[in-house]
Amino acid sequence: MHNIVVIGAGIVGASIAHHLSRANVNLTVIDALEGPGLGVSAASFGWITCAAGAPDLPEEVYQSRLQAIDDYERLDDEFGGQICAPSKGALVWGGNEAETLDWAQQHEARGSVVRLVNSAALAAMEPMIGDPPALAAHFPREKAVDVQDACALLTRSAYRANAQLIFGQKVFGLEVAGGRVKGVRLMDRTIAADHVVVAAGAQSPEILGEVMPDHSISMSPAALVSLRADVFGLTHIIDGDGLEIRSRRNGELIIASGVENGPEEQIKADLAQHMLAKVCRVFPAIINPRVTSVEIGRRPFLADGRPLVSSADGVEGLILAASHPGVILAPEIARRVVNIVIG
Ligand SMILES: Cc1cc2nc3c(=O)[nH]c(=O)nc-3n(C[C@H](O)[C@H](O)[C@H](O)COP(=O)(O)OP(=O)(O)OC[C@H]3O[C@@H](n4cnc5c(N)ncnc54)[C@H](O)[C@@H]3O)c2cc1C
Repeated sequence: MHNIVVIGAGIVGASIAHHLSRANVNLTVIDALEGPGLGVSAASFGWITCAAGAPDLPEEVYQSRLQAIDDYERLDDEFGGQICAPSKGALVWGGNEAETLDWAQQHEARGSVVRLVNSAALAAMEPMIGDPPALAAHFPREKAVDVQDACALLTRSAYRANAQLIFGQKVFGLEVAGGRVKGVRLMDRTIAADHVVVAAGAQSPEILGEVMPDHSISMSPAALVSLRADVFGLTHIIDGDGLEIRSRRNGELIIASGVENGPEEQIKADLAQHMLAKVCRVFPAIINPRVTSVEIGRRPFLADGRPLVSSADGVEGLILAASHPGVILAPEIARRVVNIVIG
């Protein structure tokens, strides 16, 4: 039986653990934090989307995003509707009607399901929008995932299938001998393994060190602003008027944003103020909105052309699993890891 260690219980590691645990393997999942999904996954917007990307993405990339929508639909069914946040798809609009139309047509030509909606239809779909644009594109199949909750569900499913879960313990290094990985080093012990999957997000290079120097992972910050309001909810993921916003299952509103350079506390304070003002402008009927948190997450990026899953040269059994956008691609990454490990 294979002895497999997965380092990291973010959405990538949790998805791998869930997929691997269905096979007859001896699986251990280790995360330095106190529970699953507390790394960058906790700060994720969690949109499973083609619409958020440019419509001229390479064919293989576009197809893998379409595939991800199917993957999450299946996963949601498997978990009794608990993986995806309730949503009726995504509503997207550009700076003007022509831009929205062009965007919608290009996405439709690539295989997305897209419906055009005029301002009256949009107002009926999301009555809180104060000044609906003349035209918006509705992507009814697109989904959103509350990522930290999904990580908890996926790791729990692995645990029920006999995986061992170790939280609050950092992996300090890899045991390698005779051209093979032999296990991982924790503070007080070593865990033996014949396969080690490094799914440690932006921290993966620290673990790989000299063993896999050509990892090509970089970090890119982005922010998630969470808000609460009295009696307010969106039934779609919305990307328009410079705002990427949706409701979480728990009723919170979340907004994804890029971040400027500067001191972190200042960035957070500025973003809180800026997003609150934007929300009040786009949804003027909102009552008592208040920002509850601003989190800055460091997203792991791979250099263009790198595979989502790569095996180390010269160290058998060592696998790196990382990607951006990691939530979208997590099921595909998990399938690829299973193929490498189990065949
Ligand atoms: C604001 C924002 C919006 C985003 N929106 C989207 C989106 O809409 N769609 C999308 O697909 N993606 C989105 N992303 C990106 C996505 O969130 C990430 O790509 C994804 O969460 C990465 O998951 P991961 O499992 O690789 O990393 P992580 O969630 O960081 O998981 C890695 C885990 O490894 C653990 N770890 C690290 N080092 C060690 C060690 N030495 N020992 C043990 N454990 C270790 C960490 O504790 C962590 O839990 C967004 C990100 C942000 C910040």
